[in-house]
Amino acid sequence: MKLLLSFSLVTILFLLSCKIQTENPFFTDFNTPFATPPFDKIKIEHYLPAFEEGMRQQQQEVSDIVSNPADPTFENTVEALERSGSLLTKVSQVFNGLKSAHTSDEIQQISKDIAPMLAKHSDDINLNEKLFERIKSVYEQRDALQLNTEQRMLLEETYKGFVRGGANLPDDKKAEFREINKKLSLLTIQFAENVLKETNAFEMVIDKEEDLAGLSDASIAAASEAAAEKGYHGSWVFTIHKPSLIPFLQFSRKRELREKMFKAYINQGNNNNELDNKEIILNIVKLRLKRANLLGYKTHADFVLEENMAKNPDNVYKLLYQVWKPALNKARTEATALQRMIENEGHPFKLQPWDWWYYAEKVKKEKYDLDEEMLRPYLKLEDVREGAFMLANKLWGLTFEERMDIPVYHPDVKVFEVKEKDGSHVGILYTDYFPRASKRGGAWMGSYRKQYRINGKKYTPVIVNVFNFTKPSGDTPSLLSWEEVETLFHEFGHALHGLLSDRTYHSLTGTSVPRDFVELPSQIMENWASEPQVLKMYARHYQTGEAIPDELIKKIQQAAKFNQGFKYVERLAASFLDMDWHTLTTAEIDDVIAFEDRAMKKIDLIPQIVTRYHSPYFRHIFASGYSAGYYSYTWAEVLDSDAFQAFKETDLFDQKTALAYRENILAAGGTEDPKVLYRRFRGRDPRIEPLLEKRGLN
Ligand SMILES: [Zn+2]
Repeated sequence: MKLLLSFSLVTILFLLSCKIQTENPFFTDFNTPFATPPFDKIKIEHYLPAFEEGMRQQQQEVSDIVSNPADPTFENTVEALERSGSLLTKVSQVFNGLKSAHTSDEIQQISKDIAPMLAKHSDDINLNEKLFERIKSVYEQRDALQLNTEQRMLLEETYKGFVRGGANLPDDKKAEFREINKKLSLLTIQFAENVLKETNAFEMVIDKEEDLAGLSDASIAAASEAAAEKGYHGSWVFTIHKPSLIPFLQFSRKRELREKMFKAYINQGNNNNELDNKEIILNIVKLRLKRANLLGYKTHADFVLEENMAKNPDNVYKLLYQVWKPALNKARTEATALQRMIENEGHPFKLQPWDWWYYAEKVKKEKYDLDEEMLRPYLKLEDVREGAFMLANKLWGLTFEERMDIPVYHPDVKVFEVKEKDGSHVGILYTDYFPRASKRGGAWMGSYRKQYRINGKKYTPVIVNVFNFTKPSGDTPSLLSWEEVETLFHEFGHALHGLLSDRTYHSLTGTSVPRDFVELPSQIMENWASEPQVLKMYARHYQTGEAIPDELIKKIQQAAKFNQGFKYVERLAASFLDMDWHTLTTAEIDDVIAFEDRAMKKIDLIPQIVTRYHSPYFRHIFASGYSAGYYSYTWAEVLDSDAFQAFKETDLFDQKTALAYRENILAAGGTEDPKVLYRRFRGRDPRIEPLLEKRGLN
């Protein structure tokens, strides 16, 4: 009897688990329009089994490659490896997308649970000796194989990936290498989680109306809604999320409150509490250096940069100093103007970093009769989005049609089908605009599916753009700041890079390009956003529908070079900081803040400006893929300014230039050396002058 009972229990459990298996959406083709992720059906309990099964399948595929009795060929080894792990890719793309855009305690927990498993899994492949032998054998015959450009690139990248992943290391070092990767994966997750919690933890509650002095109606309304959401009545809540923080710094007349907000922002991860990131940074830096040394590189930066256009730290520092010197001079001049404004107002104090935003607005207003709030009414989010869509239409004939039949992961998300001029399907674009506690800060583009081909069949891309924009409040729609407009165009540029991708191997398509090249397609779009011709297409008053007046456009153009010293100094300081951390040849550092101070002193940073990110919340370099890479934004600016010049020289919508840009840059992904691609588009190498000219740094 007892036996029978346990037997039936086992049977029931077995049947139950079968049922769960078959209902797991990751285990079947996505049965949705364009096979987009069925967000409405994916449950938290589906991830772990899908990750586990995905890893198991790829392990099997790899062992099939290795045990293939046939001699290694490009097809049976390199291409077979490229095609392996499709389930793992599928679940990872959904999971990682949501981890950034709509996370939860459960997702964070799974992320921590699987990080070591995934690190081990990729190490098991990267350090598989027999697999590497086969790849090496194909690599050594590469000149005799008659591969096309993309195949050749895949072979070279695969081989290099293995070498960089430790495949040439002796056995004992391999174990050490694995251990380092495992530790790093956990440390970087912890770093990001701490920053997210720190950002969410701070709130400044204002009870007295007089403390709102100077703020716009929109800021006040947003703060009032934030207070209501948190259950505070009759008060206002400001946070260090950018849409709350920046307008506060720009317009609050209460200097001590500006200081409070500013300091809360720049001290994230540096509060000596359980969310402090300083110890984590020291460990990350130490481990990265150790890993680079193991692989035979002098520093982590040498290891990283080899794979980029810049090639080595010297080239990066050279570029940074080239822009740094004129930028610092300009910032000094700007500081003097701000100090004069302070004195004109009769104040005795010296300009401090928390004053810069405020007095910059005042000087701008005085000099150009322009402030942020004058523009906002013409920058309704939906109109700006239409502007970006129209631009893509004028350049490449693309259209964007909203679809209501495709599942989303949050009600804020909108879905657009992107089509060619002839109506054929290009891909899917999700947009997700507003901040929420489950979303990390910043703005980004991501892929729920990258474009690729198998046997000639094209799999179309599914792309997302995520932002933290000013929310609509009450009757007022979302009205963007100019910086937010640029951000929208920027991320849309990344989205186009993913959408217009047109090659075969997914590890080389879309935005899978060297990091200092990846910001070209995004940053170039910002150039169009401020052109009068384009502004007139999308900027109209949200109440009257009146197009943005010529006079206002003229002011924007006149003010275009305003405050650029500040912007570049702030950003370049962070780039130097990143490079300094990652060109260390010894990890004998024990004080993060002292190290930072020395780095800033070395470049003569003026005291009125702080680096755009302090190390304890510098997520780009300690939690995402931008270590020894923050310079990329500036590097790519050289490219984007020079590339945009090609349109300026002909016509903003010149079809021939647009096509050349699409074919050589957007469609090609990482299938060729970016230097070659750029030359093919532009007919020559990029020049730095257009950037210096554009920003008034010449
Ligand atoms: Zn970007």
